[in-house]
Amino acid sequence: MVDDTKVNKASDKGTGIRALKSEKIKGVDVMVNRAIERILAADTPTADNNNAQPNSKISTSGDKETVKSPPRKRATSNNGRVADDSQSKKTASKKNVTKNGAEPDAPQRKKKSHKTKKVVFVPNQDEDQVSSSQVFIANPLAVSQQKYRQVNNTKKPTSRDYKLRVIPLGGLGEVGKNMTVIQYGEEILVVDGGLAFPDDGMYGIDLVIPDYSYLVENRNHVRAFCLTHGHEDHIGALPYVLKDIQAPVYGSTLTLGLLKGKLNENKVKADLREVKAREEVEIGPFKVEFFRLTHSIPDSMGMAIHTPVGTIMVVSDFKMDMSPIDGEFMDFGRISALGEKGVLLLLSDSTNVEKEGFSSSERTVGYSLDRIFYSAKGRIIVTSFASHVHRVQQVLWSAERTERKVAVVGRGMQNMVTIAGSLGYLDIPQDILIDIERINSLPADKVVVITTGSQGEPLSGLTRMASGDHRQVQIMPGDTVVISANPIPGNERTVAKTVDNLFRLGATVIHERNEGIHVSGHASKEELKMLINMVKPRFFLPVHGEYRMLYKHAQLAQQLGMPEENTFVLENGEVLEVSRRRCRINGTVTSGRVLIDGLGVGDVGNTVLKERRQLSESGVIVLSMIYTKQKRPRILAGPEIYSQGFIFEKEYEHIIGEMKEKVVAICTPERLSDGSLHDLRNQVRSVLSRYVVERTGRRPVIMAVICEV
Ligand SMILES: [Zn+2]
Ligand SMILES: [Zn+2]
Repeated sequence: MVDDTKVNKASDKGTGIRALKSEKIKGVDVMVNRAIERILAADTPTADNNNAQPNSKISTSGDKETVKSPPRKRATSNNGRVADDSQSKKTASKKNVTKNGAEPDAPQRKKKSHKTKKVVFVPNQDEDQVSSSQVFIANPLAVSQQKYRQVNNTKKPTSRDYKLRVIPLGGLGEVGKNMTVIQYGEEILVVDGGLAFPDDGMYGIDLVIPDYSYLVENRNHVRAFCLTHGHEDHIGALPYVLKDIQAPVYGSTLTLGLLKGKLNENKVKADLREVKAREEVEIGPFKVEFFRLTHSIPDSMGMAIHTPVGTIMVVSDFKMDMSPIDGEFMDFGRISALGEKGVLLLLSDSTNVEKEGFSSSERTVGYSLDRIFYSAKGRIIVTSFASHVHRVQQVLWSAERTERKVAVVGRGMQNMVTIAGSLGYLDIPQDILIDIERINSLPADKVVVITTGSQGEPLSGLTRMASGDHRQVQIMPGDTVVISANPIPGNERTVAKTVDNLFRLGATVIHERNEGIHVSGHASKEELKMLINMVKPRFFLPVHGEYRMLYKHAQLAQQLGMPEENTFVLENGEVLEVSRRRCRINGTVTSGRVLIDGLGVGDVGNTVLKERRQLSESGVIVLSMIYTKQKRPRILAGPEIYSQGFIFEKEYEHIIGEMKEKVVAICTPERLSDGSLHDLRNQVRSVLSRYVVERTGRRPVIMAVICEV
């Protein structure tokens, strides 16, 4: 998060993040380099390392409001301990050992190794530490490193150049604002850049994005953004991030189509590069191979990031849908093949790790919708997430089958239908869409309305219909409302209130879980196990989930035979350092959240939030007064007291009167002539706040507007 004062000072330079001064960044870089060199110096794979401080902070910012990752509380994983070689060897299954005793390799290694037929490995040597020429002959891995060195021969490489780091900047310990840095040496690849929605305590905040100071500080090394899919929690922060960091963005057609809409709204230009499933792109020292996944939005992809150290596989947001709506199947073949070749680290979706069994196919929702559409006598109003393209598709198909016309309500939903429709990801039957104004001219049983508001969001279509203040749609008896989504934890109350209001207006509401009108887009336990079995990674990093989900996902991997020290439960900002034989948490970088309020990015910090909370709980009291120190020190005007949200002034005039008396009592001629204006303001505020707490038990915000003439 960005400190208020810093932003104020630098307001002429734009956003809080952009306001980080370049001199400061340079200084920070030196600091980081030194810190890393210190760590490297102490970094030999000996037993001593077991006592190393895993969380030695590499703080890259002095920002005091930035949320630093707390010290680790438990030890599921090795928590910074070096997974020693004997343990790692144990984990390498027999299948993973080739005839000549060499371990299977990342694709680059294999590619190179067939040239030098006889490959001699140095088994106990930490390749991160090696740079001698003999190893270039013996170790094909080093050949990749050499190639990388040739490409980037602008400066003499240090051992730091060969470190592979995975740094989650968001998405861990939360569901939302996913963003992960993959860094080899200094070169950075960013996977996703998503947003989160504010929680109840964030008064007036529109959106929350990850604190990407780390990317700003390393902006010259950011090679690309690679996107998994078009959901807000994966692309929503990019309109802000891309203002500060210019790098190409790779993603599928629909993902980039949805992103483009957002970028245009925010007047941000970016270099968008479309990739197809099974396509591979070379980005700096990385080769990124995309493969198809199934999820609640079409064109979702996972990626295998081939690095000189090994392959990192990112499988964020997926389910194994065996009958996907768009007929695009998850690429089990490629995923297994990559697993066979050897995956060093797997990042996998933890959202539904607590759900037993397999998730149902999205197609099952279609059968339930058909049942409802055929039996409903009046209008049907369906709500779901705007981004749930497959769900909207099924509503369109059910409407077509029952000869109903469809009106789309709500900007988010309309945008999605337009973009997905124009890119061919939504099959919109001919003439099925009608303008919302036309619904009253059609018979009730010929109308379907699709709208947002499945989470009870205050300004959404359904919430306004339920409270009777939607301009075009008035709920009436005979209407059937289908809430085709489960409330996200925390939204249950607002959804229940909406449902109550709809019933009050005479509608039939179908919202319960057992009605079959919603299935999750995330894999359940058995699917997660299946993925781990297919990929057989050496190291495992659960992502996309609250802390307990990540923890349980790590446990799940352990149940499948992964050694505990090879699974990692991280907090945002923690640095996972990966090499071929070991993986450990080593330091942290700046992470946290940046709050977006209207046009302000990062200009609302904890202090402002606290004031907003105080205002919302107890209101505000404003005291105004003019006094003079000249000749006869005295109060010239006032004190006047105004309040809002505190008490009903007319009925509590005596309290207001007593407050004035308290102020007059402290404004003795001596005090007025001796003290400064600043002191007087503070004194008045503390006298008033003490009095108000004593009399009312409330703590309103107190403002003293005092002038001296
Ligand atoms: Zn997600
Ligand atoms: Zn998603």
